[in-house]
Amino acid sequence: MKIPEIFHTKPFGLSIEIFPPKTEAGENALASNLSRLTRYQPAFISCTYGAGGSTQEKTLEWCGRLVNEFEQSATAHFTCVGSTRTDLLEWLNRAKARGVQNIMALRGDAPDGADKFEATEGGLTYANELVTLIRENFGDEFGIGVAGYPEKHPEATDAQTDLVNLKRKVDSGADAVFTQLFFNNQSFFKFRDNCQDAQIEIPIVPGIMPITEFARIKRITSMCGAVIPNRLAEKLEAVQDDQEAQFEIGVEHAIAQCRELMDQGVPGIHFYVLNKSEACERILDALDIHPATI
Ligand SMILES: Cc1cc2nc3c(=O)[nH]c(=O)nc-3n(C[C@H](O)[C@H](O)[C@H](O)COP(=O)(O)OP(=O)(O)OC[C@H]3O[C@@H](n4cnc5c(N)ncnc54)[C@H](O)[C@@H]3O)c2cc1C
Repeated sequence: MKIPEIFHTKPFGLSIEIFPPKTEAGENALASNLSRLTRYQPAFISCTYGAGGSTQEKTLEWCGRLVNEFEQSATAHFTCVGSTRTDLLEWLNRAKARGVQNIMALRGDAPDGADKFEATEGGLTYANELVTLIRENFGDEFGIGVAGYPEKHPEATDAQTDLVNLKRKVDSGADAVFTQLFFNNQSFFKFRDNCQDAQIEIPIVPGIMPITEFARIKRITSMCGAVIPNRLAEKLEAVQDDQEAQFEIGVEHAIAQCRELMDQGVPGIHFYVLNKSEACERILDALDIHPATI
């Protein structure tokens, strides 16, 4: 389903994000987890585009599998890293041929070894330019999602500047904002209010990553800048040798987060599942999110 359609026709837009595995064992595990997650009938499943512009082919391959094998709406993440405008258009044409319905249009991060993002010669500098490129060349053939940062993008000097830049993506033709992961709902509510004040009127969909392993989440948050609230960090610290206990704490926290977000009327939730199904299934069951309600 294309992004605008989801929020016009469904009371709740559930979406799930995966990444292309690097090994055959990882691919088999993902396929089996996907068959469990698709029972919840997400509005779409999105597949990330490798950091630094890697895994371009794998993203398309997995989007093709999502469409043909799992009969899902596929959203391809896509970044400006390492590509000229011609490369970008060529990849978008291939995404279209694979049946991709939506593009998550991103700038991307610096490739490994580089300390900051540099535009490729003949390429694009910011995600708003990618949104424009898609709209100018493909009209409404793709739904377009863009990234939003409740706790500010790490490179932005302040939240207000970041919001002005988010508005550029919206004005260029984005259909919905999907947020960076966060663990404190107050950051999201403040961000949503600020978006409203800035006349950002498209759906703002919170991104939730259930914590299943404290060490892994610390690595992820150190890269993306999301804050783990002190009380949650202390609880996880206390069970740092017990992964099962970390999983339970993470899942309970995510359930409480999602419950409050839904009570406060979010249009959907985007789950970063890290290619695993168990935590997400626990959360969706606890929230009673099943096909009849979405
Ligand atoms: C939902 C989601 C999915 C993601 N998926 C992927 C993925 O699959 N692969 C991947 O590599 N990364 C992914 N990322 C990470 C993303 O690529 C990084 O956060 C990246 O650093 C910024 O991308 P962006 O699209 O937000 O960039 P932009 O919107 O271009 O913003 C980047 C920075 O530049 C500033 N800025 C933006 N526009 C302008 C302008 N016109 N003039 C001046 N300053 C400007 C912004 O304030 C911000 O600080 C994802 C992030 C999210 C939230």
